Amino acid sequence: MASLQLKNIKKTYGNGITAVNDFNLDIEDKEFIIFVGPSGCGKSTTLRMIAGLEEITEGELYIGDKLMNDVAPKDRDIAMVFQNYALYPHMTVYDNMAFGLKLRKTPKAEIEKRVKEAARILEIEHLLDRKPKALSGEPKVFLMDEPLSNLDAKLRVQMRVEIAKLHQRLQATIIYVTHDQVEAMTLGTRIVVMKDGIIQQVDSPVVLYNEPQNLFVAGFIGSPQMNFIDAIPEKKGNDVWLNFHGQGVKLPAEKAQKLVDAGAIGKEVVLGIRPEDIHETEEALTKFPDDVITADVHVTELLGAEMHLYLSIEDVDLIATVNPRIKVKSGDRLKLAFDPSRIHVFDKETEQVITN
Ligand code: ADP
Ligand code: MG
Repeated sequence: MASLQLKNIKKTYGNGITAVNDFNLDIEDKEFIIFVGPSGCGKSTTLRMIAGLEEITEGELYIGDKLMNDVAPKDRDIAMVFQNYALYPHMTVYDNMAFGLKLRKTPKAEIEKRVKEAARILEIEHLLDRKPKALSGEPKVFLMDEPLSNLDAKLRVQMRVEIAKLHQRLQATIIYVTHDQVEAMTLGTRIVVMKDGIIQQVDSPVVLYNEPQNLFVAGFIGSPQMNFIDAIPEKKGNDVWLNFHGQGVKLPAEKAQKLVDAGAIGKEVVLGIRPEDIHETEEALTKFPDDVITADVHVTELLGAEMHLYLSIEDVDLIATVNPRIKVKSGDRLKLAFDPSRIHVFDKETEQVITN
């Protein structure tokens, strides 16, 4: 099995588009690494450069300790590079490559055409009727490009579990591309969040969730997404408050100090708070008396295990995830507590985190 190193990788296509820029990443043996980000952010381009299907414009790619930039795809020990195909050791290579397409009910002739085309690019046409195990040596790295993207929701969840099991079974390094943050969070040991060809943050799911380094990552990871409120920090004695629309919440001392240190007092910042960290319970209102706000309820969405409240404070929209049993309806005015330990603050201009 293998580790990978991507050093200052850049891809500029013939048309002048730079799809990936200054991409630096060390991947350890047996890691399940996810590339996640919106469509067009350079995920597939990066994966294709690792596979050798796309030339690297600048930078260095190592697999193990071997420089791979000029090594042919078939010689990279990336024995399986199946975009949109699953991988099962008991099925032939052909069936593996056809698997995702079959699930999607692609016509047989179309499946054959696409599998053969991919096999031709990978120079593995002569291996199509063998099982993956029979391929030269053990595959070192498995690359998967949005293998579940066209499945319906239920099948996608089932297949997600299958892929997690596959990783456990193979004990291999997997690089997996998706635009779906839920898939990323549930599958990855580490997640690379990308935007416009540039890495925004590389961390484990729990660190990405708790300590997003900028507004983009904060908004991208988590569902419903983190609430953002433009606010002005004010120092009152030893305390720092974040004020917005005549309301305010008090920051814990540690976070307050970070704002002071950053010179953010009196300047516009963005307050971030996840829907699950806004509470309507008596207990929370009592526990966090300095972090209670008043908001108008517009829509209530009952999801069974939880309820989403669509709220507003003047022109600021908020979402809170609350207990489904509470009695609340559209038109109500509601007191809610922000859990102060869960408040994030971002620099409005640089969009970088000031405190998590
Ligand atoms: P993602 O997989 O994250 O959706 P891609 O890597 O496919 O993103 O694309 C990144 C950027 O590169 C996009 O702007 C896309 O239009 C461009 N691009 C992708 N493939 C090519 C190509 N073969 N030639 C020119 N531009 C391309
Ligand atoms: Mg893609």
